Amino acid sequence: MGLIIHKRCGKCGEYKPFSDFNKEFNVNGISCWCKSCCHEYYISHKEENKKQRKEYKRKNKERIRVYQKEYNKEYQKKYNKKNRERIREYYKKYRHERKTNLKYESK
Ligand SMILES: [Zn+2]
Repeated sequence: MGLIIHKRCGKCGEYKPFSDFNKEFNVNGISCWCKSCCHEYYISHKEENKKQRKEYKRKNKERIRVYQKEYNKEYQKKYNKKNRERIREYYKKYRHERKTNLKYESK
């Protein structure tokens, strides 16, 4: 038939063949924006996102730093506590073994 159905792009307003639209997002199975518009949007959005992330990091540098410091402190504390328990357990067992002449196999 050679019939090409054109669709108007919701962004640039140009009539383009269906093949110029991505087959997603939309109810008809056709995106309402043409491929090049979607691509443009994606690219600009990507840059925007990158900028926003950078800006967030810059603005919250101190907060992020404090958070990480706190986190590390907490971690260190937990780690020390755990190890202290382990060392204590070890010596307890060791003393017990010396006293009783028993030997415990640790598994
Ligand atoms: Zn377009």
